[in-house]
Amino acid sequence: MTANREIDDILQRAADGGRITPEEALLLYTDAPFHALGEAADTVRRRRYPDNVVTYLIDRNINYTNVCVTACKFCAFFRAPKHKDGWAHPMEEILRRCGEAIDLGATQVMLQGGHHPEFGVAYYESLFSGVKEAYPQLMIHSIGPSEILHMAKVDGVSIEEAILRIKAAGLDSIAGAGAEMLPERPRKAIAPLKESGERWIEVMTIAHRNGLSSTATMMMGTGETHAERIEHIRMIRDCQDLAVANGYQDTAVETSHELGGFRAFIPWTYQPENNHLKGRTQATTMEYLRFIAVSRLFFDNIAHLQASWLTTGKDVGQLALHLGVDDLGSIMLEENVISSAGARHRSNLHELIWMIRTADRIPAWRDTLYNHLAVHRTEADDPTDDRVVSHFSSIAMPGKKTLPLVDAK
Ligand code: SF4
Repeated sequence: MTANREIDDILQRAADGGRITPEEALLLYTDAPFHALGEAADTVRRRRYPDNVVTYLIDRNINYTNVCVTACKFCAFFRAPKHKDGWAHPMEEILRRCGEAIDLGATQVMLQGGHHPEFGVAYYESLFSGVKEAYPQLMIHSIGPSEILHMAKVDGVSIEEAILRIKAAGLDSIAGAGAEMLPERPRKAIAPLKESGERWIEVMTIAHRNGLSSTATMMMGTGETHAERIEHIRMIRDCQDLAVANGYQDTAVETSHELGGFRAFIPWTYQPENNHLKGRTQATTMEYLRFIAVSRLFFDNIAHLQASWLTTGKDVGQLALHLGVDDLGSIMLEENVISSAGARHRSNLHELIWMIRTADRIPAWRDTLYNHLAVHRTEADDPTDDRVVSHFSSIAMPGKKTLPLVDAK
């Protein structure tokens, strides 16, 4: 119990699985005592996942181009068309990286890139079908609404046509990238050329309706208010309400009724290096942790909540496991976009498992759709591959165009 009856009531209702309003979420975010907030969020996690399992993933982010016409102010990765450091990887290089990732146990690739002025739907069709033909076992969890709008615009086709074509070509899931901040004021301030938050939601809704599920993200710390953070998750929850009300299902999921629409919510903190927003305040650790807990209480309709150890650090990532988080995300065999802006935290398979176990949770390796591939109940169950390590580079910078994951001996 806290000293505030109203906060107690909201926390109790949320912990019991009841819905809270955006106004109530804001009150919890700004005023609820930290331990009570965390306890309520963890109660929800325990009810959803009574097996006490916390999952992780092995995947690789592969960037096909850094050329982009959208020039978001927070982005340290892109280069304008015709810039001398702009590049686009040929298919052979992308396939080489996929093969290397599979060798290290990856089950997923996240193909990410800029809005290249020449990349229409056909480019993405050949990208996804090329990967699927070579490696049918890899789940392609990639791109976001911005890329879908861009390719549709390049070719003059509808959003739905673009989605149906790239899905048929092999896209398994849409990454929640490009959400940043969905409300108009902060979005215009950091990404004036990007689609509106409403358009981002519209693309996700069309994808969900067509059996393509996704994740949703949020980038905190570029000067948005607490109320705008809550408005961001309000927009995502409303979109998910539509998916639930209409029974939108991921066509690849046969077993769970929970995984249509958004499968997971992943907030992360803005990184301030090498971009045009330098000097803005990052979200503080407490703001991040409190938001994690509020997200678990607010999203009564989204199954999974992921901690971002890459941007917040491993200690904070582990602490988030006590605030309602059930997933620690990926080892990230390769990441270049956020690390270009200053995220330097690295980890490896053993460490991620250790972080989960020492938080008194049971670690499990999962795939894109949260199927458990291995549950490590004791240390005897742990994998032994020392090569599964994070690699971060800034390939937007000259001279780093290849990234071998395993040392050539
Ligand atoms: S965040 Fe994406 S859309 Fe924005 S500039 Fe960077 S690559 Fe382009």
